[in-house]
Amino acid sequence: MTQDAVSLTKSLLRFDTVNPPGRERDCARFAGAMLEEWGFRVGYHEYADSRTSVVARAGGSDAKPPLCLTGHLDVVPLGARKWTRDPFSGETDGDKLYGRGASDMKAGVAAILLAARSFSKHLNNTAGVVIVLTAAEEGGCVGSAQLAKTQLLGKAGAMIVGEPTSNYPLVGHKGSIKFHAHFKGVSAHGSMPELGVNAIYKAARALARLEAFDFQVPQHPVMGRPTLNVGTIEGGNTVNAVPDAARIGVDIRTVPGMNHDELLERIRSAIPEAELDVFSNLKPVWTAPDEEWIQRVFEICRPYVGEAPAARTAPYMTDAANLLKVYSGAPTVVLGPGEAAMAHQTDEYASQERTRQAVAIYEALIKDWCR
Ligand SMILES: [Zn+2]
Repeated sequence: MTQDAVSLTKSLLRFDTVNPPGRERDCARFAGAMLEEWGFRVGYHEYADSRTSVVARAGGSDAKPPLCLTGHLDVVPLGARKWTRDPFSGETDGDKLYGRGASDMKAGVAAILLAARSFSKHLNNTAGVVIVLTAAEEGGCVGSAQLAKTQLLGKAGAMIVGEPTSNYPLVGHKGSIKFHAHFKGVSAHGSMPELGVNAIYKAARALARLEAFDFQVPQHPVMGRPTLNVGTIEGGNTVNAVPDAARIGVDIRTVPGMNHDELLERIRSAIPEAELDVFSNLKPVWTAPDEEWIQRVFEICRPYVGEAPAARTAPYMTDAANLLKVYSGAPTVVLGPGEAAMAHQTDEYASQERTRQAVAIYEALIKDWCR
């Protein structure tokens, strides 16, 4: 099978991996079969039915761990607005390649696969590469969290996350803590509130404290300040009763240097009436821009970016936060051909030219790592 970056992206777009429900299995098997044909050792992991991730490796030596290239296979739903292009057939118009997941991030996955193909026969006795294609990245990085609990990931000495950056190398992103704060009260008739305990009042007191919460950390030179947002509030059943339960949903974004455990302790003491259910807790991803490998990445990207890349970070989360639990300390760059502004949009598209360029960039990075 000879495919170029654009036709391979189209092939990937034709698999409906909209999450929910996900169903990445067919797409994962398609990518895995290709990798196997090119000589990669391929493993699959399903944390739930049809939720398939792929881990493939080639080469490898005791002297140096491999380079990891990673991307996710799932895409977000089409949204309420009507598309003017077919989201699954890979329509093109000039440089634009349309489809759900074109930018986020099937163009990136295609570029990773093609870069891997050109090296599949030349990686023996080198550090080698490990390719990690995950299920269920959208909406909480569940697939990579599950994968990090297995033995499949092995080792990696550096990591490239192919999320959409228009091929601009980004040196990390914020961390995130997401939790529900539950408040309990005592129900009573609405005409006799003095007999009850109002859970919504408890939540309201907590909301005021959260809005005024001071992280007490200095501004990060690249990522800026940590943030806190209350995104949901639920409580009560009817207007004429004292509510005995209320719940708020909180999303905190952290910067490097913050200790998540200590932060959660401070949150708990700021809102002592709440019971916290933390359902996502991912550390920031950050590699100092002057790190040696990052400098090489900057050098390799320079002609494509048109200038020496500056230290910038991504606004969004990536699987790297989970993969780094296993690839601890690996310098990490977020670098992919998609357009960040197109992610999750109606009529999402990717640039065909950037997709081809990403293959060249990834090839140069593999070559550099496996010298
Ligand atoms: Zn993505």
